[in-house]
Amino acid sequence: MANHDVFVISEHLQGKLSDVTFEMLGKAHSIASALGGRAVAVLLGHGVMELAEQLGAADQVLYIEDAALRDFVPEQAEDILKGLLQREQPALTMIANTSMGMDLAAALSATLDWPLIAYCSDVQVIDGKIAAVSQIYGGKIAVETLSGYDHTVVSVLAGVFSAVERRATTPGSLQIMPGSRAANAGRMRFKGLIVPEATDVDITRETMLVSVGRGIGSKDNIELVEELADALGAALAASRPIIDSGWLPKQRQVGKSGLTVKPKLYMAIGISGAPEHLQGMKDAELIIAINSDASAPIFEVADYGIVGDLFDIVPALSERIAEVRTR
Ligand SMILES: Cc1cc2nc3c(=O)[nH]c(=O)nc-3n(C[C@H](O)[C@H](O)[C@H](O)COP(=O)(O)OP(=O)(O)OC[C@H]3O[C@@H](n4cnc5c(N)ncnc54)[C@H](O)[C@@H]3O)c2cc1C
Repeated sequence: MANHDVFVISEHLQGKLSDVTFEMLGKAHSIASALGGRAVAVLLGHGVMELAEQLGAADQVLYIEDAALRDFVPEQAEDILKGLLQREQPALTMIANTSMGMDLAAALSATLDWPLIAYCSDVQVIDGKIAAVSQIYGGKIAVETLSGYDHTVVSVLAGVFSAVERRATTPGSLQIMPGSRAANAGRMRFKGLIVPEATDVDITRETMLVSVGRGIGSKDNIELVEELADALGAALAASRPIIDSGWLPKQRQVGKSGLTVKPKLYMAIGISGAPEHLQGMKDAELIIAINSDASAPIFEVADYGIVGDLFDIVPALSERIAEVRTR
């Protein structure tokens, strides 16, 4: 029988908790209070006490400390979490829908025989049951699911909930538990972390992005858009063809196989608005699109659209913005 608690599986890498962990914690509180339970943060790791101490917004933190958990190995995490969840019986388990969380959520669902609702952009309680909205087909379709089960696992998209405050407060209730698994007991081995090349800019943290697409025509023309970005004080981003052509580094790619961004301003220049691109930027506060094709799908999500040739519009805009800013 389930209790009414909501468990949040904390995600961390290289000594830092991910933002989505705090976003899930914020939501976990409202769900737990609707269910009459507690928001419980679960942290797996080795020597990461300082992270446990940052999870003070949770009603309780369960820190599972084991040398085998020094690096993330899904098989080990699954094995340890399986035992914990079976014992604790939370009504809801929240896992980030990230490359680390996706297979963990699926594996736990299969091994515990608890249903998984993946790609969640919302989670609520309706008549005492867990209800979730999932974005599927690259965000083209939103599916509402009502779980009639005692236990539900959801994997939550990053950036859809507001992060809970009180990040750095030591939790009132912190329980440190040993892991139940000997190091290297499973079949999977952690071989190493491939860290992407360091760049000067993290486009997920920028408030203004000027994003360039295939309409730019050639690498040399990117300079034009860069000038507009500079005039605005914005960072440069791009659609996938620009990255695939090697014109900008991968860390600038917005979309399904790139990064999800939520800036105050997103300017899409020569970008058609394919679903895979929209998935990464449609939640920007203000979207301005420049495209010569009035029927380009980008205009469906744009707040302002300019139909025209970017080679006329972009230099004129840069000039005008530079003028206004130097006044
Ligand atoms: C599994 C998968 C994952 C993917 N992941 C991503 C992803 O993460 N990010 C991503 O962006 N894409 C991704 N894609 C690719 C995606 O489907 C599109 O192919 C891509 O987004 C198109 O990029 P684009 O808009 O720059 O190019 P195009 O679709 O070729 O659009 C170019 C646009 O420029 C306009 N244009 C041309 N000349 C001018 C001009 N002179 N002035 C003004 N406008 C002009 C055209 O009208 C057109 O609308 C993915 C695809 C798959 C299958």
